Amino acid sequence: MTPPTLFPLNGRRIFVAGHRGMVGSALIRRLRQEHCQTLTVGRDALDLRDQPAVNRWFDEHRPEAVLLAAARVGGIHANNTHPGDFLYDNLAISINVIEASRRTGVAKLVFLGSSCIYPRLAPQPMPESCLLTGSLEPTNEWYAIAKIAGLKLCQAYRRQHGCDFSSVMPTNLYGPNDNFDLLSGHVLPALLAKIDAAVREGRDTVEIWGSGLPRREFLHVDDLADAVIFLLKSWSDEEPINIGTGTDFTIAELAELIAEIVGFKGRFVYDVSKPDGTPRKLLDIAKLTALGWCSRISLEAGIRQTYDWYRTSARRRSWKDG
Ligand code: GDP
Repeated sequence: MTPPTLFPLNGRRIFVAGHRGMVGSALIRRLRQEHCQTLTVGRDALDLRDQPAVNRWFDEHRPEAVLLAAARVGGIHANNTHPGDFLYDNLAISINVIEASRRTGVAKLVFLGSSCIYPRLAPQPMPESCLLTGSLEPTNEWYAIAKIAGLKLCQAYRRQHGCDFSSVMPTNLYGPNDNFDLLSGHVLPALLAKIDAAVREGRDTVEIWGSGLPRREFLHVDDLADAVIFLLKSWSDEEPINIGTGTDFTIAELAELIAEIVGFKGRFVYDVSKPDGTPRKLLDIAKLTALGWCSRISLEAGIRQTYDWYRTSARRRSWKDG
């Protein structure tokens, strides 16, 4: 059942903030199926942390809708070692884009957050209502605080100014244009890159950080983009909405699946001196399911597609750079 379209995209000017990132580029791909005009601007031309520059850009380009997918993102190590960058950059990007959208009368804005905004020991699966009911996971609280501030600013502007600004909370994402760097990337791209390198170099062990026991839910970024456009067209609410698959896996299970896809026959060595982070992060997707959306790309199909992409673009690029 498709819900009624409250916000038709035909002919609209839609600004995708962060279009070169994994999420932004997937949104651009998905928007090609709609009869709308997409607006983008590169980091070289506009630093979203620079408020006067953001205001000038909005005055000049006048988007009608905004998908706020720009953020400083990274895996557990990057978050843990660059707390200032994760807090400042994400706060600045959020307040500048949300305020410029309010000031220039943007008709609809969707802010992208993350499942790490929920408490470290939230009930599983995590409903939207558990926001701010407990302490955050220390390894990513800087990023989480910035995302909570962005979500709250959308809520506050809805109440005070009547802005149609909403927030969506995706689970752990992966796909083309992800960050495959072993230190700063998230677990799925890092393990793909590590296991692929081990096969190419004939090594029979691969190191996994932590115990392998934490559980994570993984959503392909093309599914995420489809959900965001679905919600942009047919939903608006003060409360955020979760976007996930409804299924989670241990890190050890993820590693085994990647090994099978990449053809790695060796063994994994668990480095328990590295942090595990949140023990479990599974979103409650009842609200989204009730609206009529569900994910379509299985984890296995999504990893195969991402691995193909990595082999044809990212790996070739890193060989050239390296
Ligand atoms: P998180 O979901 O915010 O904790 O971020 P990550 O995707 O970076 O990490 C998820 C889990 O995978 C954590 O328990 C990590 O310790 C674990 N992990 C195992 N190996 C790796 C790796 O090579 N890179 C990363 N980023 N995480 C790993």
